[in-house]
Amino acid sequence: MKPSNKNVRCPTCDKPFVPDPQSAVMPFCSERCKLADLHRWMKEDIGIPHGSSEPEDQEDEAPSPPMSPREWRFD
Ligand SMILES: [Zn+2]
Repeated sequence: MKPSNKNVRCPTCDKPFVPDPQSAVMPFCSERCKLADLHRWMKEDIGIPHGSSEPEDQEDEAPSPPMSPREWRFD
């Protein structure tokens, strides 16, 4: 039987390699591929038009209760 050296493919360069659990660049084969994928991802993210993420009108009007408990009098 073979030792379970499972090769995986790098998502960036599609190169098969033996994954190293201690590697900081998993699941990529190298730091370069990791960064390349990150850059691509960021580019795609920037390409999507975001709405303005800052809400300008913060109307903090809590709905007031129709009657305050003080007005409830049972004379
Ligand atoms: Zn790679």
